[in-house]
Amino acid sequence: MAGNGGALVTAPTREVPNQSTDLVDYNLFTTNPALMDALSREGSASDHDRVAALGERLGTAEMFALGDAANRHPPVLRLFDRFGGRRDEVEFHPAWHELMRRLVGEGLHTGPWSEPASAAHVARAAAYMLWAEIENGTQCPATMTYGAVPTLAHQPEDFDEWLPLLLSREYDHRFIPAADKKGALMGMGMTEKQGGSDVRSNTTRAAPVTSGGPGREYRLNGHKWFFSAPMCDAFLVLAQAPGGLSCFFVPRFLPDRSVNTLLLQRLKEKLGNHSNASSEVVFEDTYGLLVGEEGRGIQTILEMGVYTRLDNATATAGLMRQCVAQAIHHARQRKAFGRLLIDQPLMRNVLADLALECESHIVLVMRLARAFDAQQDEAESVLRRVLTPVAKYWVCKRAPAVIAEAMEVLGGNGYVEEGPIARRFREAPLNSIWEGSGNVMCLDVLRALGREPRAGEVLEALFAGSKGRDARYDRFVDTVLVELGSPTDGEFRARQVTQNIALAVQAAVLLGHGPGASAEAFLASRLTGGPPGALGTLPPGVDSGAMIERILRF
Ligand SMILES: Cc1cc2nc3c(=O)[nH]c(=O)nc-3n(C[C@H](O)[C@H](O)[C@H](O)COP(=O)(O)OP(=O)(O)OC[C@H]3O[C@@H](n4cnc5c(N)ncnc54)[C@H](O)[C@@H]3O)c2cc1C
Repeated sequence: MAGNGGALVTAPTREVPNQSTDLVDYNLFTTNPALMDALSREGSASDHDRVAALGERLGTAEMFALGDAANRHPPVLRLFDRFGGRRDEVEFHPAWHELMRRLVGEGLHTGPWSEPASAAHVARAAAYMLWAEIENGTQCPATMTYGAVPTLAHQPEDFDEWLPLLLSREYDHRFIPAADKKGALMGMGMTEKQGGSDVRSNTTRAAPVTSGGPGREYRLNGHKWFFSAPMCDAFLVLAQAPGGLSCFFVPRFLPDRSVNTLLLQRLKEKLGNHSNASSEVVFEDTYGLLVGEEGRGIQTILEMGVYTRLDNATATAGLMRQCVAQAIHHARQRKAFGRLLIDQPLMRNVLADLALECESHIVLVMRLARAFDAQQDEAESVLRRVLTPVAKYWVCKRAPAVIAEAMEVLGGNGYVEEGPIARRFREAPLNSIWEGSGNVMCLDVLRALGREPRAGEVLEALFAGSKGRDARYDRFVDTVLVELGSPTDGEFRARQVTQNIALAVQAAVLLGHGPGASAEAFLASRLTGGPPGALGTLPPGVDSGAMIERILRF
């Protein structure tokens, strides 16, 4: 009773006025008109009911609690058994396994490959955004598996037995040979100590056991400095073969059922992403099969990277939506100075600006996903090449600022771990760093513009659909197109060029198809060419209520 400087603590705290409630038990999809419209617009209207049913299943208090629990109880590395023998295993909390079971069961990892359809990637992007609202660590192995399938599918003679396991809807976390499992997952190892972005500096060596060539056995010696989800069943790994940097398929078990030599060193202590294990690993005569040709490792693994980069942007859009929804929900219930926060003009500006950020990123990601569905179309294929690094850069780059602002709407409670935003804020910078950090993405945009002769033309055609409706838009896209035609100061301005393409695409879709309120506010606030200032700086006259409803409508 005592313990407060001797004072008696007697007052019960059963009634606490003026607090908001938990935002749980709601449909993540049908409360998000921005995403519903984007799903239909990008060609997947027939998936509405399916995604809505998923939104209902994911929005439960149970799912939010699982996400929290998996992050409160991070994985533990078990290097040795009790007799001193090597285990090299990672143990996860049951909440992780339950989340993975549901994620895989929903087909969120490889759905477009197991059930191809004309808008399968668009539908998955919408679904994956919903999952991102719940938990992000689980998206690491799911995304890598999504990206690995097309790479392995090029070599069916060597990976035919693996593909059904990667497409399976059964999550099987047993540490046993894949041949005995009901489902499998993939990871990847590129980054080494001396260089991550510059993979050409990789020092891991791969020597053919007999003659080399695609599907042949090699032995790998070296290390990887970041090696996430090490309990995956196999990994795509870069190593220097006699013919140059090459990509290898490295399973955790050998065909003779013995354990492959993946010597885990330790798990990273990360800022966030606590549910997921990110390890360091050493290879000692580690078994691997060559994927693709020797010397073509970067091209081979980058095929995976294109999909993982789409996912980085997609998941980040979902992460932002959840935080902004939390902010709106809080402001609808919390009073300050005699009025609900949502009714305070300055707070309305902040919330509307946050909602606009969300909608503009949903718009960009879903447009990009359509290009993944239409790869047989030459123009869409060019668009995919250019827009993937654009979206990965811009959507991920905005997340920390957006989520910090959403956190502030909750005041002090926003900063507290018990609340919904703190762990998501720690997650926010990650998607910008891995799978190609910000600068690397912008340099890739320049590369794409340089190598795809039709890139400018394809972007111009996309912009043209909304031309003639608003002078601000017309002026902005004209400037962007001139810049694409003759980029000045190349690399030094790569971020500006990338940001401008992102803004132009967002403006084009919003102006062409979006609701008037969001389009008007976007044109009035985002096309000024200057650096993005603080959020909550929309000009007077915007329809803040309509914009807020786009991101959380009950
Ligand atoms: C939690 C976590 C998990 C990860 N999991 C994996 C994994 O499973 N597998 C894996 O392979 N990797 C993984 N990574 C590694 C990640 O992909 C790399 O950290 C990332 O690619 C950057 O590489 P780096 O750390 O070596 O930084 P560097 O390559 O040294 O880059 C440092 C900075 O320099 C910038 N830069 C680089 N080149 C240029 C240039 N030419 N011009 C201008 N700027 C430049 C970059 O954008 C970056 O900002 C993980 C990372 C994290 C944080």
